Amino acid sequence: MAKKHNIDRTCSFCGREIPTNQFIIGGYDAMICSDCLQAAMDIYHDHQTQAERDAISEIKIKLLKPKEIKAKLDEYVIGQEEAKKVLSVAVYNHYKRLLQGEDKSDPDVDIEKSNVLLIGETGTGKTLLAKTIATLLDVPFCIADATVFTQAGYVGEDVESILTRLLQASDYDVKRAERGIVFIDEIDKIARKGSENPSITRDVSGEGVQQSLLKLLEGSLVNVPPQGGRKHPEQEFIQVNTRHILFIGSGAFNNLSNIICDRMNTHAIGYNTKNINFNPQEALKYVSAQDVKDFGLIPELCGRFPVITSLNALDREALKRILTEPKNALVKQYIALFKMDGITLTFTEESLDYIVDKAVELQLGARGLRAIVEKIMTDAMFEFPSLNKKKITVDKAYAQEKFESSIFSFKDK
Ligand code: ADP
Repeated sequence: MAKKHNIDRTCSFCGREIPTNQFIIGGYDAMICSDCLQAAMDIYHDHQTQAERDAISEIKIKLLKPKEIKAKLDEYVIGQEEAKKVLSVAVYNHYKRLLQGEDKSDPDVDIEKSNVLLIGETGTGKTLLAKTIATLLDVPFCIADATVFTQAGYVGEDVESILTRLLQASDYDVKRAERGIVFIDEIDKIARKGSENPSITRDVSGEGVQQSLLKLLEGSLVNVPPQGGRKHPEQEFIQVNTRHILFIGSGAFNNLSNIICDRMNTHAIGYNTKNINFNPQEALKYVSAQDVKDFGLIPELCGRFPVITSLNALDREALKRILTEPKNALVKQYIALFKMDGITLTFTEESLDYIVDKAVELQLGARGLRAIVEKIMTDAMFEFPSLNKKKITVDKAYAQEKFESSIFSFKDK
């Protein structure tokens, strides 16, 4: 049916003259120009049912085995062994369930979604873990901050806008978005008021926002405002099925340790509970859904996060490893930057210890490492490309001098 003609023709749909010699001609000399053809395809796509779209879509996810996922995470995330293991299994099961689709080994068994809750102090690698998983699997990823959401009808962002971000991350490819990962940060800040954790005061909408999140997390068809969606300017909402979206909740959950200690019935160091040598310093290791509920997440929301794991605070040793070991470690990045100018950069062990000391002293944790190294390296990055020197060694004295001369502006930040 498709033919090429070299004569001027008029589109039977829009009536315009077809400018190129590329068009499709139908019966009775009807023709369609490329614009109308595109419009027809868009309309068709928008009205396809989910099942139709599922059927024609080729699911492209690189499914790695849990051990492979963990090994890849090891390249980027230091320590956090338990969290990496738990997350690797959860992600593997999630995507296995997704790829299996209707072709289930046991049609009577419905494998539930394994959304994950990551608990740990800020700067311990929660976001890094989730982001790295998304990169490994090559699925779209977005981060949403739970504190900006309000209950439907109140001033503020509706929770549906989380999915707008995921759509943007997948360039408005709905199918791709429906297999993506959503990271909901600071989920602890929407815990309800008056829970057993008295030190936290939250906005009144906390519980309402939790209720709104339920619908998203359980897997349903959600009407998402495209907000500037290029391909759908005429459309008010894009329908997104959240059934296969993996949600990773994250938060510091301050004082959760106390709740866990209370449950384990002790605050005493080294208490032996049912053969567990329980150390309250490591209470988070024993976190359960009940503790998160006691903290102030509503039971239904806890139920949507069947996998809960915790991340440790990073000690000096871990911070030093973060500086040098990951595939894109900070030190490696600076060495690569200087190498582009033909300059060999080295850091002495003492200079690295100094950087770690400053991060600990200023209570900046891993998040502060980059800022500190940047302060130390700025002068060298400014001067060296114009000098005829091919080698620079950052020792403790150099690091200290550069950092201390910038300390005032640093503290201002
Ligand atoms: P969180 O989400 O827990 O607040 P992030 O994952 O955003 O923390 O970490 C902040 C930065 O600190 C990351 O970009 C990364 O460079 C570094 N970082 C934190 N934890 C780790 C870790 N365990 N391994 C490697 N880098 C880390």
